[in-house]
Amino acid sequence: MKILVINCGSSSIKYKLYEFPQKTLITKGLIEKIGEKNSPMRDHGHGVSALLTRLIKEKAIESLDEISAVGHRVVHGGETFRQPSIIDKKVLKKITECSKLAPLHNPANLAGILACKKNMPSVVQIAVFDTAFHQTIPQYAYTYAIPLKYYKKYAIRKYGFHGTSHQFVALEASRILNKPLETLKLITCHLGNGCSITAIDKGKSIDTSMGFTPLEGLMMGTRCGDIDVAAVFNIMENENLSLKDIDTILNKKSGLLGVSGISNDIRLIKQGAKDGDSRARLALEMFIYRIKKYIGAYQFILGGADAVCVTAGIGENNPDIVEEIRKSVYALSGDKTKVLIISTDEELMIASLSHELISSPV
Ligand code: AMP
Repeated sequence: MKILVINCGSSSIKYKLYEFPQKTLITKGLIEKIGEKNSPMRDHGHGVSALLTRLIKEKAIESLDEISAVGHRVVHGGETFRQPSIIDKKVLKKITECSKLAPLHNPANLAGILACKKNMPSVVQIAVFDTAFHQTIPQYAYTYAIPLKYYKKYAIRKYGFHGTSHQFVALEASRILNKPLETLKLITCHLGNGCSITAIDKGKSIDTSMGFTPLEGLMMGTRCGDIDVAAVFNIMENENLSLKDIDTILNKKSGLLGVSGISNDIRLIKQGAKDGDSRARLALEMFIYRIKKYIGAYQFILGGADAVCVTAGIGENNPDIVEEIRKSVYALSGDKTKVLIISTDEELMIASLSHELISSPV
């Protein structure tokens, strides 16, 4: 059967089409410039129509009837979604409610779902949430130490993100180590433009570095990660900044870019450091230091780890950074803890979870 995976951004749709149960990739692509001036893709509905026409034109499918399910990446599932869900009216309403928690992402994901429903009304649509894998994190780890009424009133807590990537990498680690996931303690490090680390005990996320939003935790391409909130108040007061201004600074102008002043791309930072640029060197040292700090903390809360798994653009392509991590892991636990580089595949995870859901008996 064929499963289509859709990842809808505000102005783009990334897609991959798979054949199951073989898990082979048939085709993939990107529809861009949705809603932009002078673009033929006026909205997500036009985008999805163009995508489906392209699949037929490329002969990836002969007709839409061949598609058995569409798996949608949905960024935020709040506390409602612990598992992938078949999208019905109730689920749509809940995803809409979760838009409060991810106002930049969930509305685009929803637009993609509605467009697919319109173009393929009889095909089952499934939502796979970035946050769902982390819903096993215990309350003492997800609660912020602020008055509890804000959790009750506004659902302020740690949610965590990159869930499908952490889950995929954990399953791959179990395959590589040839041990059941239920017997393993793993630390998975998703190091891309966005970065997060997760502690996984017996296949379940027990803590992760991202928080209420993807801003918390590691230093990232353009996000600051952990920071004393009082420092943020200080900058706002000194520079007379609005909430929108400071949000842009912390999310888009910080991290590797903000410290180095060069780029958010680790390749350029490494080149800068090599050429003797002190800000580039500092950015690189901070980036690696913060990763080690989280790995150390998670080794401690897990009571040791069978493997530290490194993935995504930075993790998969920078053996020198992985070597730094390996040295620290080795110094603590010798070769008891393996360091593995694993290619992540979030779309394949979404397709696999969708396949599992539609294949499981009711
Ligand atoms: P991602 O968000 O997973 O696509 O990762 C993006 C980051 O991966 C970029 O900022 C680059 O710094 C890094 N990256 C991607 N490809 C390479 C490569 N071939 N060599 C080194 N770093 C890379």
